[in-house]
Amino acid sequence: MNREDLAGCKREDPELFFPISYTGAARQIEVAKGVCGRCPIASACLRYALDNPERASDGIWGGTTPRERRALRSAQPALEEAI
Ligand code: SF4
Repeated sequence: MNREDLAGCKREDPELFFPISYTGAARQIEVAKGVCGRCPIASACLRYALDNPERASDGIWGGTTPRERRALRSAQPALEEAI
């Protein structure tokens, strides 16, 4: 079984993870994040999205919205300096 077979979103409608708007789709985002919350590869998915912003510029990845990933990316250098 490869990693993609483990993805919690594999059996979901892909559109669930790509809301048209992030401001008016709170319920859709909540449902998508719920799927990510049960996904066994969520950490790897989020790591990929953080490392590849050009490929993961839109959509819910690893339980995060694009805005949340931008915040994580901008916090990363400060966190690494503090360690
Ligand atoms: S964490 Fe990534 S692979 Fe898992 S369900 Fe969410 S979007 Fe899909």
